[in-house]
Amino acid sequence: MSHSDVVVVGAGPAGSAAAYWLARRGHSVTVIEKKQFPREKTCGDGLTPRSIYQLREMGFDFEVGEFHKITGLRSYAGDDLMIELAWPEHSIYPNWGGIMRRMDLDGQVATLAEKQGAILRQQTEASPLLEAGRLAGVNLAANGDQETLHPKVVVVADGSMTRFGRAMGTHRRRDYPMGMAARGYFSSPRSDDSFMESQLDIRDANGDSMPGYGWVFPLGDGTVNVGVGLLSTFRQWKSINTSDMMSAYVESAPDYWGLSPEAALSKPRGGKLSMALSVGPYAGSNWVLVGDAVGAINPWNGEGIAYAYETGRMAADHVHQALAADDLGLLKRYPQDLEDTYGLYYRMARIFVKAIGYPQVMWTLAHVGLRSRPLMEWVLKVMSNLLEPEERHIGEQAYRMLERMVRMVPG
Ligand SMILES: Cc1cc2nc3c(=O)[nH]c(=O)nc-3n(C[C@H](O)[C@H](O)[C@H](O)COP(=O)(O)OP(=O)(O)OC[C@H]3O[C@@H](n4cnc5c(N)ncnc54)[C@H](O)[C@@H]3O)c2cc1C
Repeated sequence: MSHSDVVVVGAGPAGSAAAYWLARRGHSVTVIEKKQFPREKTCGDGLTPRSIYQLREMGFDFEVGEFHKITGLRSYAGDDLMIELAWPEHSIYPNWGGIMRRMDLDGQVATLAEKQGAILRQQTEASPLLEAGRLAGVNLAANGDQETLHPKVVVVADGSMTRFGRAMGTHRRRDYPMGMAARGYFSSPRSDDSFMESQLDIRDANGDSMPGYGWVFPLGDGTVNVGVGLLSTFRQWKSINTSDMMSAYVESAPDYWGLSPEAALSKPRGGKLSMALSVGPYAGSNWVLVGDAVGAINPWNGEGIAYAYETGRMAADHVHQALAADDLGLLKRYPQDLEDTYGLYYRMARIFVKAIGYPQVMWTLAHVGLRSRPLMEWVLKVMSNLLEPEERHIGEQAYRMLERMVRMVPG
């Protein structure tokens, strides 16, 4: 039996990052993962410069064959409007991104945490042991064996379903946006493209606009990750079937990708995107939530990997300080840090996704925006959270502009 100061539940990006940074600071850490690596994870596999930065900080080897470097984003609206934008220059973040199957990425990042001294226990499912409403331990179940660990602190990194978190009493704010997305793998002659591509205006077989967006992310190995997504702020979003949307998108995507039902290598798989820090409370007396378990996905673009690494690292910082001072009361600072770091940006995002829930606003933004390169360069910076600190005031202006726009829309 292991006696660790910290137990991390889940070895996705958030859990592995938390374990990496805690183990690196000399704490004893056990990470519990219910699956066995390599394991599949439903994702677009897209890594923006913020993800690359965090991976680089953990010493990730980008020379591995499974990593495909990406220099920018290509966006389409309909057949006629297209723009290609390079990732912006930034004082902290690199000007490149990547695509890598989560099947390969997550196990490699978990290994980085192990190299720092974290213990990884796979094929083991964790559930909370509650006593008088307080987290008193972590029950483990593996191959019919049961065990209970009693760490000082638990980092909850169990993803968007977050059964562990829910059993402790966390809940998602229903007034915050949520995303639904599905992805599948296809063979493609353009798999070595160095741009990720997004389609802002998907049409069904009748040519009618569908509320949502599509993507093709090239993997550099003869295959591409193709997906569609939509938000709970979109009209009738509950009645929309993402598999139907996917079929419509495969049908209408640019010919050069060579997409067709015959080129499909897997059935589409769907998942939920908890966003804008919608799950709380963010921390308790001896636990913290990170990644999708705290709903950390960026609503501007549906990106969650970077925010899983970032919140994992931020939580590790606070857990380290609490353990070093032998004062778990210091964990209370973590929620404030989350709010200071992402609060304003995610508030703007909530207004933005509410605005694009109105088809006329989405259409106008896509069709007017894509005609202006300077505007789109700025939009890319805002959406991928790559504004420089001194450009923050521009973000605040956008926030006010969006707020005015939302008020003007009827209903
Ligand atoms: C269709 C789709 C496409 C997406 N595309 C992108 C994209 O292109 N780029 C991007 O940045 N983000 C994307 N996202 C979001 C991204 O996948 C998530 O934000 C990210 O995986 C969050 O990481 P995490 O570590 O918090 O959770 P997860 O990656 O879900 O990891 C949680 C881990 O915990 C384990 N676990 C769960 N419960 C237990 C338990 N009780 N005991 C032990 N282990 C447990 C799971 O097996 C899993 O390994 C997409 C999401 C979806 C659904």
